[in-house]
Amino acid sequence: MSNQDFDVVVIGAGHNALVTAGYLAKSGLSVAVLERTAFVGGGAGTFPSPYHPGFLHEYHSQFHRNIPNLPWYEDLGLDQFGLEYIYPPVNNGMPLSDGRALIIHADPEETRKSIERFSKKDAETYVDIYHRYAEMGRNIWFVRDYSPPIPPDEEADLLKKTKMGREFLELNKNSAYDMVHELFETPALRAFYLFLFSVRGYLPVPTVENTGFSIVAMTVMGNKAMLPRGGARQLGNALGSMVIHHGGFIFPATEVAEIIIQNGRAAGVEAVDGRKFMAKKFVVSSVDPTQTFLRFVGEKHLDSGVADAIKGYKYGVSGKSFGVLFALHAAVNEAPNYTASRFDPRINQAFNTCVGYETPEDVLHHLGEVIEGKPTQDIGIQCAVPSLFDRTRAPDGKHVLIAWQFAPYSVGDLGPEEWDNMRETYLEKLVSRWVEYAPNIADNLMYKFSQTPPDTERHLINMREGDFHVGALIPSQLGYNRPIPQYSQYRGPVDKLYLTGSGTHPGGNITGAPGYNAANAIFQNENMDIWWNPPDVRKVWAEMD
Ligand SMILES: Cc1cc2nc3c(=O)[nH]c(=O)nc-3n(C[C@H](O)[C@H](O)[C@H](O)COP(=O)(O)OP(=O)(O)OC[C@H]3O[C@@H](n4cnc5c(N)ncnc54)[C@H](O)[C@@H]3O)c2cc1C
Repeated sequence: MSNQDFDVVVIGAGHNALVTAGYLAKSGLSVAVLERTAFVGGGAGTFPSPYHPGFLHEYHSQFHRNIPNLPWYEDLGLDQFGLEYIYPPVNNGMPLSDGRALIIHADPEETRKSIERFSKKDAETYVDIYHRYAEMGRNIWFVRDYSPPIPPDEEADLLKKTKMGREFLELNKNSAYDMVHELFETPALRAFYLFLFSVRGYLPVPTVENTGFSIVAMTVMGNKAMLPRGGARQLGNALGSMVIHHGGFIFPATEVAEIIIQNGRAAGVEAVDGRKFMAKKFVVSSVDPTQTFLRFVGEKHLDSGVADAIKGYKYGVSGKSFGVLFALHAAVNEAPNYTASRFDPRINQAFNTCVGYETPEDVLHHLGEVIEGKPTQDIGIQCAVPSLFDRTRAPDGKHVLIAWQFAPYSVGDLGPEEWDNMRETYLEKLVSRWVEYAPNIADNLMYKFSQTPPDTERHLINMREGDFHVGALIPSQLGYNRPIPQYSQYRGPVDKLYLTGSGTHPGGNITGAPGYNAANAIFQNENMDIWWNPPDVRKVWAEMD
């Protein structure tokens, strides 16, 4: 097998890897990106219907947030690569069994009017938080995610020095659960926030302390759900085209088996089929830490403490985090018509729709069951009808549906294999739950199919145990601890090996933040010219009022 030489070899072609690769290729380095599947984008991946032509399904990310305003979008000129984001005005909705509906609009004034129908006090609180904490959200929350992590003690010391920092610490010391109770009186609104909290995977259970500010952050930024025209795949395609435009190479169907270590440094990688891709300068891995450290590098090159720490790195529900989903994919002859549309017709136009949770206790109960390995089926689901906003997703007059529910990877003592026995009955329960709120779905279903947590792992092997965050978002694995404290600065365990992807700070979801932070860390470490303007968390926090 012949060798191929590049300056840099990047493992995996998810959006984070492509963001990092984009900065490298745009700076003139020859970059090879190696991807196990036939597609670029990883969890930004859209697939044609297996049953009926003309329908597009999202097997991974559906709700992208605020993407065109993220720093890498502009730095990498992504608007020049055919990417177009649609920003639904009825951003989030929650139909209730009593016939009412709660809506978070893109426009905060419209949201105020919706919440006012439940509680005038809550409506005023919402608008007050939305405006009052916007700057704090940008300066502290955003800058923390878009900078390499700093040690927790240093973080606290820095924040204590300014008025804004102290106010943040005060708000954040509560649990998200206490925070929603302190701020709002409407049970449905409290439930809605806790649902968003869990979906974003900010932390394990919402009763954990030091999660309070996430509720404020979701008020400031919680109306920014959007979707790329043509499907999430378009984000991967645009990033891939951008890398190629700058001279990079992408190799699909190339599963990496090993990092080649020569004279103590990462010198290239070997694919499972024996092809070798040599890296004159360095290697970047974007996949799960377990593969990077234990499969690609191998235990013999690791200190025993490091090998043990990586063996202890936890995924998904076994780490008591909720980035694991069971999905329903379906097509219908007409869009869902909620009973609650008599109260507010705009619920039928909501993008990110929470169905079935009505009180904070519903959310906690469900999460508790998931942790115990019980697939619950009859509680809350997250739903969307992307074809309402993007007509490329379904043929004329038809619609494509997606619904997710938090689920365990392993079904109690029966293990993950049990999902293959129960997928159809579980799917039926999920449809029934949605039909309770939108009865017309029942008579209009054209087809439906399921995606279990093991299916997710089979498809993207880095999402171990189905964990879409690629590692539980728990305090011992967040920030300065992600993936492990020894290697949280985007550097791998051998010289000239760097890390990016959701296994690094700040974790999963379509944010590009790990990819962006890794680029910053690599350029700094390699003494390369940083031609963009990354925020410096220490500087921003020191200069706050
Ligand atoms: C059902 C589901 C719903 C989701 N919904 C949302 C949502 O609405 N909003 C949101 O923001 N996020 C959502 N996510 C999460 C989101 O998809 C991920 O967090 C995100 O894709 C992680 O990006 P990444 O670039 O770090 O890794 P990935 O996207 O996982 O990319 C990693 C890539 O590496 C490749 N790879 C793995 N091993 C190897 C190897 N040995 N050799 C070569 N290549 C390899 C994989 O094939 C993959 O393409 C969802 C995920 C799932 C599963």
